[in-house]
Order: sequence, then C-alpha cells, then structure tokens
Amino acid sequence: MRLISHRVDHGTRLAVVLADGTAIDTSALGSDLPSTMADLIDGGDAPLESLRRAVLGARPGGGAPIDSLDLAAPLGRIGKLIAVGKNYVDHATEEGVAPPAEPLLFAKFPSAVIGHDDPIVWRLSDTTKVDWEAELAVVIGRPGRDVPRAGALDLVLGYTCLNDVSARDLQFGDGQWVRGKSLDTFCPVGPWLVTADEVPDPGTLRIRCLVDGEVVQDASTAEMIHDVPALIAYCSRFMTLLPGDVIATGTPAGIGAFRDPPRYLSDGQEVIVDIEGVGRLRNVCRVLPGRP
Ligand code: ZN
Repeated sequence: MRLISHRVDHGTRLAVVLADGTAIDTSALGSDLPSTMADLIDGGDAPLESLRRAVLGARPGGGAPIDSLDLAAPLGRIGKLIAVGKNYVDHATEEGVAPPAEPLLFAKFPSAVIGHDDPIVWRLSDTTKVDWEAELAVVIGRPGRDVPRAGALDLVLGYTCLNDVSARDLQFGDGQWVRGKSLDTFCPVGPWLVTADEVPDPGTLRIRCLVDGEVVQDASTAEMIHDVPALIAYCSRFMTLLPGDVIATGTPAGIGAFRDPPRYLSDGQEVIVDIEGVGRLRNVCRVLPGRP
C-alpha cells in the first residue's frame, strides 16, 4: 500500500492510494480504520491489516486525484530521525575518505521535516551553501532492541524518499552536523510511504536526484556500505528503535559540495528525489534575504 498523510483544516489525515492511482481518505473506507498516520503507527499490526482489507474491498472510483491533496510528510510522530553519513562507497570516495567500518550516525531534528511540494526555505544571512542529498528513508513500525540482522526488516513499516538538505557552510563550520542539517524545511519526506511488503528488497533500488531536471545523483541502494538490515541492527544495539522512528540511509555520490567547482541550490530551483518502486519527491527552493 501507498499511504499518504494530507493536510486538512485541523491537522492531517491518513489516505491510501487505490489501484486506479487515486487517493481515498481512510474515513471513507470504514469507521474503525486509523484516521492519521500517527494512529496507524501507534496501533501496531492490527490497524494496518484492517486497512489492507478495506483497500482490497474498496469499490473503484471513490478516490480523488493525488494532486488535489495537500501532502504532508507521510510520518507519524517522529521520535528519532537517525541519519547515516558516508554510506555509499562512491560518496565516501568523492569526499576523499575511507568508507567507515561501522555506520556513522548523526541526527536531524524532526522539526525540519516537510512534505512533497512544500518549499525548502532558507535565509542568505544564515547560509549560502545549500546542498541536496537523495536518500532512502526507513520508517520503523515495531519496537526493537539488539535486533539481529536476520530479523531486522521485520521492524520496518515502510519506505519513503527523503532529501537530507544540508547547509554545508554551517555543517563544515561546526565540525559536526546537526545544525546545518536541521534548519526548518531541510528534511523533505514523501510523497507517500510504501509499505514494506511492496519493497521485498530495499537493497536493489535505483536512487536518483534531479535538480531542474538534470540528473545529479544516479546510483543503486545496492552500493550502500551498510545495508538496511545492517543499519537497523547497528542502531538497535545502542538505542531502542520505536514505531515512528526514521532512518535516513545515506546518500550516493553527486552532491554539490564535492563537485569542481562546487554547486549549490538557489531560489526557484526544483529538487526531485526519485527512488524506484518507492516514489518521486519534489520540492522547490525559496531563498529569503535575511532575518526579519
Ligand atoms: Zn545524508
């Protein structure tokens, strides 16, 4: 299933994509179904199964065009947003560093999260070096601690596209990464969540980033140094993974900062993260001059 979180007058609601490509609010499919992504994630396996049955029994023609919905990030309440640095061989190479022997974890703060078609906004007084990073995001659906690699994918609710937008001047200026990667709007996620059953192997997906239509990143998740099961097992060794947590699995080669000359995003540019079998996340940059 493809699950959508869309904005209404009061908060967000859960919708699901039907076989004909339209989206229908879960309230139109049954009164006992979860009405928000948070309800779905907090409810465990039962609401997901109820929803699956309801979608299978849905009559065609009841949905609305996805374009007519105001999409939010397809996440519930995010506890942790764990990101992984230098996790593709070619990206580590372009940076001139050896691939890390163990996953290199850092954090993005959940307040940075936006949805499909929301603008990525920054002020020139804060940063002039804003960069793209196409990433596969893993959304956790079941709790786990010390999970073995063999059972790691059982924790996954689904997958979505994520852009780990990064202010390189802040990131490299600090020497650590959390500020430059946590500016408001610097974590586009979406357009929807694809449930794990539709992505049997997250290690074989083509992943691309396009800026104004130009392909700037083009790789396969097979090139990850630490694959999705390894990342889940590793994180859970140190911290309990909880439903709603997100792991951004790292970006392949082709970011702007390590190009010659370096390239950064500017006002009006469109950035797309496209992952095979998962989705196509689009956002446009909006640059403001300075603090009000
Ligand atoms: Zn990243």
